[in-house]
Amino acid sequence: MSAPSIPNLLSLRGARGGPRDRGRARAGDHSHATAPSQETNIQGTDTDASVSRMSAVNLGYLQDPFAQYFVHMSVNGVARRLPIINRGTYARTTALDRLISAFLLNSEGRGERQIISLGAGTDTRCFRFLSRPSPTGLIYHEIDFPAIAAKKLHLVNANPQLGVILSNPQAEDDGWSCRSLPNGCQYWCHGLDLRTLVGNGVKALRGVRTDVPTVLISECCLCYLEPSEARGVIKHFTEMVPDLAIMIYEPIHPDDSFGKQMVSNLAARRIRMPTLDSYQNPAKQQSRLREAGFGFVRSVTIKEMWQRWITDEERERVDNLEGLDEVEEWNLLAEHYIVVWGWRGDGFRGWESI
Ligand code: SAM
Repeated sequence: MSAPSIPNLLSLRGARGGPRDRGRARAGDHSHATAPSQETNIQGTDTDASVSRMSAVNLGYLQDPFAQYFVHMSVNGVARRLPIINRGTYARTTALDRLISAFLLNSEGRGERQIISLGAGTDTRCFRFLSRPSPTGLIYHEIDFPAIAAKKLHLVNANPQLGVILSNPQAEDDGWSCRSLPNGCQYWCHGLDLRTLVGNGVKALRGVRTDVPTVLISECCLCYLEPSEARGVIKHFTEMVPDLAIMIYEPIHPDDSFGKQMVSNLAARRIRMPTLDSYQNPAKQQSRLREAGFGFVRSVTIKEMWQRWITDEERERVDNLEGLDEVEEWNLLAEHYIVVWGWRGDGFRGWESI
């Protein structure tokens, strides 16, 4: 599904063309057999993500006026993923948007609230949410490697349509920030390796509030860390923020034939997802969050999400965009991705009904 993650791998196949390129959707493909390091390759998954987003936007799956600024000019307008990858990008984006919108709606008018996006890459969600009319007191943090954080700043400075939303960026020790956005909102971009947050005595990131309801998002990010590191990153925030929710989107089921193909395609790109083996199914994903201290935990696979969260009318609209012959293939792909979320604290009252 869409860019970041194995989904990205799958999406690489689709970059070649449109419907004629549809074939059996093997669990990915690999066009970059060699690369300098795992870290560089992991950063490259952000490009996969932005190209898949552009493809889904160009074809009408998603509305996102900001996606175009994160895709290189030679790709913009030309990028076209396979139909099931476009649908995956749509489903994953819609699933997380739904949960985040519920958080914003639920907390509107109750003071400040905070989003912390781990491995945010050049994701456009901050622009989409900060440009909505309603968010008041939204403090939006993004964390990624320094090179990605610097790239985002460069694009904000280069494109007035982005700069109007993230206005007057200021340099910070670990990145940059926009502290005085309308309606008391703030944006912070931290350029650092998340693994530096693991361990005892690590200081809170600049600007991170520990006294407001906070949502931690990992959209295909923590899966690139070792399980102990991923646990350590989550612990960094659970120890600091009492009112906390977490949302994780990542692949599951590495052990069946489709999953094995995904893992092998990742390996061909010299990318590993170490947490895949630890949290390989919905039950283990849910236990992971309970063990991390979240009293309430839920999950949906992308297949379930598509069936339960998308209205008949909207499913029909999406179906009509490209047509989708490979329903079985879609189901197979969609059951290999999960959104798992958990929460604790008073700031998340009412979440049981989501
Ligand atoms: N979340 C974005 C999205 O869904 O569009 C980008 C996802 S991309 C697949 C994974 C991102 O996680 C990359 O931008 C990568 O640089 C970031 N990432 C992975 N490991 C990281 C680490 N240890 N520290 C900071 N960022 C990391």
